Amino acid sequence: MIRTRFAPSPTGRLHLGHAYAAKVARDVAKAEGGEFLLRFEDIDTTRVREEFYQGIEEDLRWLGLDWDGVPLRQTQRLVAYEGTLRALEVQGVIYPCFCTRKEIEGEIARMAGAPHGPEGPLYPGTCKRLPAAERTAKLAGGLPFSWRLDATAAATTTGPLTFTDLRHGTLTVDPDLLGDVILARKDIGTSYHLAVTVDDAFQSITHVTRGEDLLASTHVHRLLQTLLGFPEPVYLHHRVLVDEHGKRLAKRHDSLSIRSLRGDGISAEGVMLRLAD
Ligand code: GLU
Repeated sequence: MIRTRFAPSPTGRLHLGHAYAAKVARDVAKAEGGEFLLRFEDIDTTRVREEFYQGIEEDLRWLGLDWDGVPLRQTQRLVAYEGTLRALEVQGVIYPCFCTRKEIEGEIARMAGAPHGPEGPLYPGTCKRLPAAERTAKLAGGLPFSWRLDATAAATTTGPLTFTDLRHGTLTVDPDLLGDVILARKDIGTSYHLAVTVDDAFQSITHVTRGEDLLASTHVHRLLQTLLGFPEPVYLHHRVLVDEHGKRLAKRHDSLSIRSLRGDGISAEGVMLRLAD
C-alpha cells in the first residue's frame, strides 16, 4: 500500500506552498487508495509554538486535506534518533565536530578553493582530521559537539547508489554534494536529515514527496537509509511555489497564509483550484 506524509514544522501557519506540498502527498496516496500521514517536524523547539500544531491541523481540515491516523511529533522520537546515531557510530561513519560557526567560516575563508555545494560552502573537514588524542581530550573536557556524517566513509561502505524520482528520473547519489552534513546538532541532538530518514522508515513511507529545493538532501538520505538497512522509498520532488519575485513562499508571505486567504473570503475550493497543476 502506498503511504505518503506531509511534514510541516509548527513554527507558523500554513501558506499556499505548504498546502501544495500537502495536496501532492495526499493525491499520490489517494490515487492508489493509500494512506496520507501528518508528521510535525518540531525538533527545533526554540522556534516551535504549541498553537501552530492546532493551527496547521485546522488549515488542513479546512482545505479538505485530512490525514490518516494520529499525527507524529518528532519530539516524541528523540530516543529513536539517539539509537540510530549509536548504530552509525559503530559503523565508523560519523564523527564529533567541535567547531563553532565562526571557526568554520574562518577556515573556509583561509582555504583556497574551498569546496562548495548547492547550498553554499561545505564543511572543510577540520574535526575529521583531528588527531585521536585531541579528540579524546575535547570529549573528556566536555566541549559541546555535533555529530557529522563522514560522507566519504559512508559512500565507501554503501558503494554506488541511485534513487528514483517520479519527475526527475533515476539519479546517481553524489556523496560529496552536501559533504559532511550535521546529523546531530549541538543543541538538539538530532537534525532534519537524521530525523526524516528514521521517521520515513518508521512510518513505512513508500513515496516521499517534497519540494525540489530538497533534492540535494535526498543524496544524504539514501546514504543513511542504506547504512541503516532501511527500505528505499520512491521520491517525488515537486515544484516549489514562488512569489512574484521568484522567491520561495515562506512565513513572511502572510497574505498567502491559508488563514489570511480564508479571512479574505476565499473558499477552500478556490484555494485548492489555485494549487491545481
Ligand atoms: N519540513 C520540510 C519542509 O517543509 C519537509 C521536509 C520533507 O518532507 O522531507 O520543506
